[in-house]
Amino acid sequence: MMVVFLGPPGSGKGTQAQRLESDHNFYHFDTGSRLREEAASGSELGERIAACINAGNLVPLDVIRELIVKFFDGSIPARVMFDGFPRNLDQAKVLSAALDSRGLQLSQVIYIELEQAALLARIANRRVCEHCGTIYNITTNPPFGPCPAGYPGCALTQRKDDSPEVFKQRLKVYMNETLPVLDYYLERDLLRRIDGDRTIDAVYASVVEILELPEHAAT
Ligand code: AMP
Repeated sequence: MMVVFLGPPGSGKGTQAQRLESDHNFYHFDTGSRLREEAASGSELGERIAACINAGNLVPLDVIRELIVKFFDGSIPARVMFDGFPRNLDQAKVLSAALDSRGLQLSQVIYIELEQAALLARIANRRVCEHCGTIYNITTNPPFGPCPAGYPGCALTQRKDDSPEVFKQRLKVYMNETLPVLDYYLERDLLRRIDGDRTIDAVYASVVEILELPEHAAT
């Protein structure tokens, strides 16, 4: 099963994806995290990537294409969820070509919709654990208990690109480049919309319903 999560920055794609990963054994293909890892490595490529991320712009297509080609060249897990990809029409075509080359198809494209005012509030309150990468919201979804990476608690940091200025640019990029991807999948009869302005549990219930999965993992 191959699934794409689309939605503006802050709509909750990553949170839902992390939940599907732990409950239903989805492989979480998260371009943002992969790119941040490369950026943190200090390599020459990493510096180019960091400049794009910190400015709120998309990383060039050749970098993304390489990630995708590498993934489809390997052994592909039974359940894959693409989070943060594709982000423009060119990337959507790269994904279609990669799927075709392996005789695979997308099962669903889930679009999480949210108004701009709600996005701004979420981004301002978003924190990420620097050890385990879990995404939190300091008002609606704070951490409790030990960090899944084995620390006594999660160490929360704010992403640099969650500053109000960079966020504004990310939203602009989303409107100009990512929105046309919705039509691409609408034309292919793959797009399912869900209201993202609800609790994490309520959004998750819609996600699992669309994917025809049980809400909770079998124990
Ligand atoms: P995210 O973690 O999905 O919010 O992505 C953070 C940043 O990583 C974006 O603002 C882009 O700079 C970069 N990025 C993530 N995914 C992509 C992608 N598919 N194409 C281009 N840039 C990306």
